[in-house]
Amino acid sequence: MSPVNSGVPKLGARNTRQRTAVVELMKGLDNFSSAKDIYLKLEERGTKVGLTTVYRTLQSLAEVGGVDALHMASGETLYRACHSDVHHHHLVCTECGFTEEIDGGPVEAWAKGVASQHGFTLTGHDAEIYGVCGACAEAGAGKEA
Ligand SMILES: [Zn+2]
Ligand SMILES: [Zn+2]
Ligand SMILES: [Zn+2]
Repeated sequence: MSPVNSGVPKLGARNTRQRTAVVELMKGLDNFSSAKDIYLKLEERGTKVGLTTVYRTLQSLAEVGGVDALHMASGETLYRACHSDVHHHHLVCTECGFTEEIDGGPVEAWAKGVASQHGFTLTGHDAEIYGVCGACAEAGAGKEA
Protein backbone atom coordinates (compact mmCIF):
# COMPACT_ATOMS: atom_id res chain seq x y z
CA MET A 1 0.00 0.00 0.00
CA SER A 2 1.60 3.21 -1.13
CA PRO A 3 0.17 6.72 -1.01
CA VAL A 4 2.46 7.78 -3.83
CA ASN A 5 0.48 8.94 -6.83
CA SER A 6 1.72 6.98 -9.82
CA GLY A 7 0.12 9.38 -12.27
CA VAL A 8 -2.69 6.98 -13.10
CA PRO A 9 -6.13 8.58 -12.66
CA LYS A 10 -7.24 7.53 -9.21
CA LEU A 11 -10.94 7.47 -9.98
CA GLY A 12 -12.26 5.75 -13.02
CA ALA A 13 -9.58 3.30 -14.13
CA ARG A 14 -10.36 -0.40 -14.53
CA ASN A 15 -13.85 -0.18 -13.18
CA THR A 16 -16.64 -2.61 -13.05
CA ARG A 17 -20.12 -1.19 -13.60
CA GLN A 18 -20.78 -1.15 -9.85
CA ARG A 19 -17.49 0.46 -9.04
CA THR A 20 -18.22 3.15 -11.62
CA ALA A 21 -21.63 3.76 -10.06
CA VAL A 22 -20.06 4.22 -6.61
CA VAL A 23 -17.35 6.53 -7.96
CA GLU A 24 -19.84 8.62 -9.94
CA LEU A 25 -22.07 9.03 -6.91
CA MET A 26 -19.18 10.02 -4.68
CA LYS A 27 -17.99 12.71 -7.06
CA GLY A 28 -21.27 14.50 -6.36
CA LEU A 29 -21.01 14.27 -2.57
CA ASP A 30 -19.39 17.04 -0.58
CA ASN A 31 -19.53 15.41 2.81
CA PHE A 32 -17.95 12.27 4.18
CA SER A 33 -20.56 9.51 4.01
CA SER A 34 -20.84 6.01 5.40
CA ALA A 35 -21.05 2.95 3.14
CA LYS A 36 -24.70 2.67 4.17
CA ASP A 37 -25.43 6.29 3.12
CA ILE A 38 -23.77 5.66 -0.24
CA TYR A 39 -25.69 2.41 -0.66
CA LEU A 40 -29.00 4.19 0.07
CA LYS A 41 -28.20 7.05 -2.32
CA LEU A 42 -27.40 4.55 -5.09
CA GLU A 43 -30.72 2.87 -4.43
CA GLU A 44 -32.51 6.25 -4.66
CA ARG A 45 -30.97 6.67 -8.10
CA GLY A 46 -32.23 3.26 -9.10
CA THR A 47 -28.74 1.72 -9.21
CA LYS A 48 -28.72 -1.82 -7.87
CA VAL A 49 -25.50 -2.37 -5.93
CA GLY A 50 -25.41 -4.66 -2.89
CA LEU A 51 -24.30 -3.20 0.43
CA THR A 52 -21.43 -5.69 0.63
CA THR A 53 -20.24 -4.60 -2.81
CA VAL A 54 -20.42 -0.95 -1.74
CA TYR A 55 -18.30 -1.76 1.34
CA ARG A 56 -15.74 -3.72 -0.72
CA THR A 57 -15.61 -1.07 -3.44
CA LEU A 58 -15.04 1.71 -0.92
CA GLN A 59 -12.34 -0.29 0.84
CA SER A 60 -10.48 -0.99 -2.38
CA LEU A 61 -10.83 2.63 -3.55
CA ALA A 62 -9.47 3.81 -0.19
CA GLU A 63 -6.50 1.41 -0.54
CA VAL A 64 -5.44 2.95 -3.84
CA GLY A 65 -6.10 6.48 -2.60
CA GLY A 66 -9.12 6.95 -4.84
CA VAL A 67 -11.20 8.08 -1.90
CA ASP A 68 -10.34 9.31 1.56
CA ALA A 69 -11.41 7.18 4.50
CA LEU A 70 -12.01 8.59 7.95
CA HIS A 71 -12.17 6.29 10.94
CA MET A 72 -14.58 7.82 13.40
CA ALA A 73 -14.43 7.30 17.17
CA SER A 74 -17.75 5.43 16.87
CA GLY A 75 -15.97 2.71 14.86
CA GLU A 76 -17.71 3.78 11.66
CA THR A 77 -15.65 4.50 8.56
CA LEU A 78 -16.68 7.43 6.38
CA TYR A 79 -15.65 7.93 2.77
CA ARG A 80 -15.30 10.85 0.40
CA ALA A 81 -13.91 11.52 -3.06
CA CYS A 82 -11.42 14.33 -2.59
CA HIS A 83 -11.48 17.51 -4.59
CA SER A 84 -7.72 17.74 -4.44
CA ASP A 85 -5.12 15.41 -5.91
CA VAL A 86 -2.23 16.87 -3.98
CA HIS A 87 -1.42 15.81 -0.45
CA HIS A 88 -3.70 17.46 2.10
CA HIS A 89 -5.57 16.95 5.32
CA HIS A 90 -9.17 17.41 6.44
CA LEU A 91 -11.08 19.49 8.91
CA VAL A 92 -14.29 17.55 9.50
CA CYS A 93 -17.53 18.57 11.22
CA THR A 94 -18.60 15.65 13.40
CA GLU A 95 -22.21 16.89 13.33
CA CYS A 96 -22.94 17.23 9.61
CA GLY A 97 -19.86 15.79 7.91
CA PHE A 98 -18.95 19.09 6.22
CA THR A 99 -15.28 18.94 5.27
CA GLU A 100 -12.60 21.49 4.47
CA GLU A 101 -9.47 20.41 2.60
CA ILE A 102 -6.61 21.87 4.61
CA ASP A 103 -2.86 22.11 4.45
CA GLY A 104 -0.90 19.85 6.82
CA GLY A 105 1.23 22.80 7.97
CA PRO A 106 3.70 21.79 10.71
CA VAL A 107 2.47 18.18 10.58
CA GLU A 108 4.50 17.62 7.38
CA ALA A 109 7.90 18.46 8.90
CA TRP A 110 7.00 16.73 12.17
CA ALA A 111 6.11 13.46 10.39
CA LYS A 112 9.39 13.54 8.43
CA GLY A 113 11.40 14.36 11.54
CA VAL A 114 9.86 11.62 13.69
CA ALA A 115 10.32 9.03 10.95
CA SER A 116 13.99 9.85 10.40
CA GLN A 117 14.72 9.97 14.15
CA HIS A 118 13.54 6.38 14.33
CA GLY A 119 15.37 5.31 11.19
CA PHE A 120 12.17 5.09 9.15
CA THR A 121 11.70 6.08 5.55
CA LEU A 122 8.45 8.01 5.54
CA THR A 123 5.83 6.51 3.22
CA GLY A 124 2.76 8.36 4.47
CA HIS A 125 0.92 9.86 7.41
CA ASP A 126 -2.59 10.65 8.53
CA ALA A 127 -3.86 13.60 10.51
CA GLU A 128 -7.46 14.73 10.43
CA ILE A 129 -8.99 17.42 12.57
CA TYR A 130 -12.49 17.01 13.97
CA GLY A 131 -14.78 19.67 15.29
CA VAL A 132 -18.20 21.29 14.99
CA CYS A 133 -18.62 23.69 12.07
CA GLY A 134 -19.96 27.22 12.47
CA ALA A 135 -23.40 26.36 11.08
CA CYS A 136 -23.80 23.37 13.42
CA ALA A 137 -22.53 25.33 16.43
CA GLU A 138 -25.11 28.03 15.64
CA ALA A 139 -27.89 25.45 15.24
CA GLY A 140 -26.88 23.86 18.55
CA ALA A 141 -26.86 27.22 20.34
CA GLY A 142 -30.29 27.98 18.88
CA LYS A 143 -31.70 24.77 20.35
CA GLU A 144 -30.46 25.62 23.82
CA ALA A 145 -31.84 29.17 23.81
ZN1 LIG B 1 -9.51 15.61 0.74
ZN1 LIG C 1 -21.52 20.92 10.68
ZN1 LIG D 1 0.29 15.74 5.54
